[in-house]
Amino acid sequence: MNLILLGAPGAGKGTQAELIAKQLQIPTISTGNILREAIKNQTPTGLKAKDFMDKGMLVPDDVIIGIVSERLAQDDCKKGYILDGVPRTAPQAQALQDNGIELDCVVSIEIDDAVIARRMTGRRVCSACGASYHITANPPKAQGICNACSGELVTRKDDVPETVQNRLAVYHAETEVLKDFYAKRGKLVLVNGDQPIADATRDILAAIGVQP
Ligand code: ADP
Ligand code: AMP
Repeated sequence: MNLILLGAPGAGKGTQAELIAKQLQIPTISTGNILREAIKNQTPTGLKAKDFMDKGMLVPDDVIIGIVSERLAQDDCKKGYILDGVPRTAPQAQALQDNGIELDCVVSIEIDDAVIARRMTGRRVCSACGASYHITANPPKAQGICNACSGELVTRKDDVPETVQNRLAVYHAETEVLKDFYAKRGKLVLVNGDQPIADATRDILAAIGVQP
């Protein structure tokens, strides 16, 4: 099963990707998490990406396309994968297609901008594994500590309201067109992201034809 989760920043892609990956036993590939790890480790990719990310802008396509093709070549992707946060531009979608990537389904998690702005102030992410929590909607079992790996939970620098507004504008300008791209290829399904997390998971599993 090769899946893409599309949606605005804060729509719930990372949250749903982790839940569905567990159910399907396939890896999640989050370009945001890969880039944050690269920044933490001060790699050349991280140094290139940092300024773009801090401003809420997209990292250049060539950097992203390189990261994704390297990751998809790894053995654990042979049984399938979930792409979270990629593609985000038409050239990225085209590059996946040109590389012969076969997709089973593209799920767009739909949500209004006004709801997203509220969600982002409560988001906390694990500084070690990237898992996403919310202080009220999806709190960790122990405050400030990741359920999965006991890493420290932190607030993302780009989750401040002004940067969130930039990221939403970028989503509408550059990423939303991908819904058309995949609808034309018969791959797109829409799922309501403005409902409890478990309900959105149920709808995504139904949309991709998997029994919960
Ligand atoms: P994305 O990966 O699309 O940027 P996340 O999965 O990190 O989004 O979710 C953004 C924030 O919203 C997180 O704090 C997450 O816990 C919370 N969240 C995700 N899905 C829901 C939901 N259905 N209802 C309420 N909060 C949610
Ligand atoms: P995310 O964790 O998906 O919210 O991504 C955080 C930030 O990483 C984005 O605002 C971009 O700066 C960068 N980023 C992640 N994925 C991509 C991508 N596919 N294309 C361009 N930039 C990306």
